[in-house]
Amino acid sequence: MAAPAKVKGRFAPSPTGRMHLGNVYSALLSWLSAKSKGGDWLLRIEDLDPGRSRLDFARQLEEDLLWLGLEWDEGGLDAKGPLDTYCQSRRGEIYQSQLDRLEAQGLLYPCWCTRADIMATQAPHESDGRIVYAGTCRPGNPVQKALEGGRKPATRIMVPDCDISFIDGHYGPQKVNLTEHCGDFVLRRGDGAWAYQLAVVADDALMGVTEVVRGRDLLLSAAQQIYLYERLDFEIPEFIHLPLLCSASGDRLCKRDSSLDMGCLRSNFTPEQIIGRLGHLAGLVPEGEACTAKDLLPLFSWSKVPSSDIILR
Ligand code: GLU
Repeated sequence: MAAPAKVKGRFAPSPTGRMHLGNVYSALLSWLSAKSKGGDWLLRIEDLDPGRSRLDFARQLEEDLLWLGLEWDEGGLDAKGPLDTYCQSRRGEIYQSQLDRLEAQGLLYPCWCTRADIMATQAPHESDGRIVYAGTCRPGNPVQKALEGGRKPATRIMVPDCDISFIDGHYGPQKVNLTEHCGDFVLRRGDGAWAYQLAVVADDALMGVTEVVRGRDLLLSAAQQIYLYERLDFEIPEFIHLPLLCSASGDRLCKRDSSLDMGCLRSNFTPEQIIGRLGHLAGLVPEGEACTAKDLLPLFSWSKVPSSDIILR
């Protein structure tokens, strides 16, 4: 019998601003989860969005992780490990070859719809920012749009009208119907930019990631990703989602809230104070305890981590 693969966790930040406490919570818990099983931790730079990603943000992010004592075994800007690069902006050929494999299965089609066209097909209750594509450009659809001269189409993948079931390592059994959740989704934008869903699957699979730990805002995206894993015949990693950290007003933290970003936190606290606070929010240590990430390793267990979102006071 083959030995089980060594655990490999990952942190996959988008370098679009300074990390905030919520990003660090994800980094710490993915580090603890992998390291507590004797595994490795990989750092991938998700700089797919050319308009918002910046190299100086990626450098700062690495510096902040090291300051916190969260060192990666593989990846990063210096590409520690077997691959030439761990930056998504430089992995376009890899995404193209996976796209070609899906194309060969007859699953893809070009889509000329604009965002405005898609919004016009939305039912009024879908106001949570999620866009469900109605399949306007799907081959065979009688209302298919005429090809619009000059503009390059996006590439979409057809999704089946059935449930995708999986077990999240923290939130338990999940069932998602992709037709209702998102409809046929984009793998490559009309301007050539690669979509997150394709890049994240190709990268996690080809980088040998065995567990994906991240915020629960991406819980349902796991179903889109599992669909791609299955079509590409890749082994599906374990998905483990985390509660979100929210500001006192109940909104999830974002990079625009500078009061809890690493710049502000570093000028007011030591790394041990920040890790201790996050360790407390993960149910691992009493409030007010300062400690290192390594100190948390023997205390770590997913059963201690809360599942409701965490309001910071
Ligand atoms: N790059 C994404 C972000 O920073 C995370 C994607 C993932 O972990 O799958 O929000």
